[in-house]
Order: sequence, then C-alpha cells, then structure tokens
Amino acid sequence: MRECISFLCAAVVLISACAIGPVGEGSRSGPDEITVIILGVAQDAGIPQTGDDCDNCVAARDDPGRSHRVACLGIVDRLTGKTYLIDATPDLSAQWDILRPEGTLTPGQPLSGLAGIFLTHAHIGHYLGLVYFGREAVGRVGPRVHATARMNQFLSENAPWEQLVRLKNISLVEIRVNEAVELRPGLTVTPIRSPHRQEYSDTVGYIVEGKKRLLYIPDTDRWEEWDLPIEQLCQEADYALLDGTFYDANELPGRDISSIPHPLVTESMRRLEGIVRKRPGSIIFIHFNHSNPLLDPDGPERAALERKGFRVAHEGMRLGL
Ligand SMILES: [Zn+2]
Ligand SMILES: [Zn+2]
Repeated sequence: MRECISFLCAAVVLISACAIGPVGEGSRSGPDEITVIILGVAQDAGIPQTGDDCDNCVAARDDPGRSHRVACLGIVDRLTGKTYLIDATPDLSAQWDILRPEGTLTPGQPLSGLAGIFLTHAHIGHYLGLVYFGREAVGRVGPRVHATARMNQFLSENAPWEQLVRLKNISLVEIRVNEAVELRPGLTVTPIRSPHRQEYSDTVGYIVEGKKRLLYIPDTDRWEEWDLPIEQLCQEADYALLDGTFYDANELPGRDISSIPHPLVTESMRRLEGIVRKRPGSIIFIHFNHSNPLLDPDGPERAALERKGFRVAHEGMRLGL
C-alpha cells in the first residue's frame, strides 16, 4: 500500500467512562442485545493482494482459510432487528450475506434489516462496496449512508457515486465529528477524527456504545498525531479495535521507519501493554496489510502478542455490547 501524509488531529470529547470489567467474546446464543461482528480484517487490498507473491499471499491462495476479506464491522441490534455496517468494502456482497440473517428480514426485500452504513473514508477498502447498491446490482431505494460532510460531497459530486445518490440507491446522512448518532435510546455511534492521508475525504474512526463501548480505528497515522492520547481512548473503551496494518519495520525492508505513517503494532503494544495487563483481550488489532506476520496463525509474532494479552481480529469474531 502507498504512504500517507498526516495533518489533521483529533479533538475528542468523551463524556462518560464505561464500567470497565473483564472482557470476553460475545456468543451467538448469548444474552447480548447488541453484537458487533467482525466481517473482515484485511487492509484495503484484501489478502491475497492482487499479483503479490509474499508468503502470506501464497499461503492464502493455497488455503482459503488463510485468505481475508477487507476490514469491516457489522452491528446487530436484537432489540429492533436492525443491522448496520461500518464501511462498505469491495467484499460487501459476501459480508452482507453473513450479516443479513442476523437482522429481521422481509421476504423479497434484499436489503431489509440493513438500517445504515457508516463510512470511515474514501480509500478503496472502505467505500467501494457502495457500487453494489447501484443500477447494475441491487438497484432499489437503498440504505442510509452516514458520512462526514467532505465524504458526502465527494460521493455527491463524482461518478459513479453521484448516480447512486441521484437514483436514491443510497441516501446520504451527514455526521459530525464527536457528535453521537443515536440509533435508538441505548445505542449510539459517534465519529471521531482520525489523522490519516487526506485525498478525497477526511477520515473518522467510530465509538459504538450500548451498555459497553467499542472503539474502532482501522486507519490512522501515528498515535502522536492524535490530540487525545490513544491510551485514554482505550482505557475508556471495553473493546478497542485498532489499526494493525504493519507489525514492525522489518516488514518493509529498506524503508525509513519514519516514512511509515501507520502506528506499528509493536509500537502500539508498547503504549498499551499496561491496559491489557489489567484487562486482557480488550485491545484487538485489525486492518492487516498482506505483508503482516500476524496473519500466520502459527507465527511467533502472533504468539508473543497473545501472550501479552492483545488479540488479533478474525472473521466471525463477536463482541457483545
Ligand atoms: Zn484502509
Ligand atoms: Zn486509508
């Protein structure tokens, strides 16, 4: 993947801290009213990546169990039967097939139950899936798409996205950084500014809050660029799903480490190890580049990370809120 230049910082106001207790994985049959399901864990280009022959990509071609869809979350609200997506990835069709039975379905309505999509930014892994709501695909009155003013402007003014807006295949809803969107009393989604390569849009992460709080930051420049310390954000969340694009600098031989905008997983672990010592399993890495050694389930990097109390996100992981 290419590089980024960061210049925006986040100003985040978190009003209340959640009750913090031991964390675990929500279960399908469990009592959780709200469940977040991990529908993909890869960086924008997916795994295997087009034309790449690194160990992870070769392994993924040999064994479908080693291939991964692009990072995406599904939110299931059992109280209302509604489901939501965070990001519309190039794997949207398959990801919607997994999320769809979790919501309340109306016969003959392919999008019934999908109450909204929250977009993080305009890089390929995060919004390309919107095309599947257009004329060549679903082609009906489609879901609400929540995005920042700049992202909305990009979608409204550029083909092919503007056609989706014009034909009402998607309906854009403007969100504002640090302003909670109440999906119903007791369930909110709040965008937070993420400093990240700004090309066609700005970038946000999200806080999803039911009885528990989940922080999702799939794409960011280094933590030093944030106004509010990532330590504090993680402390105030029951689950934090963080940018794990690159594990360490060895992954990119010959590259100056300061030219890599993403926080390295090794660096994030150093910052956050005190939190997982108290609450093992609360910090989970996601959005892995194809080169990331954490993708090897038997690799020493993953074993060392898990020994410290961190987790590696996997498709199908469920987190109860
Ligand atoms: Zn990305
Ligand atoms: Zn990005």
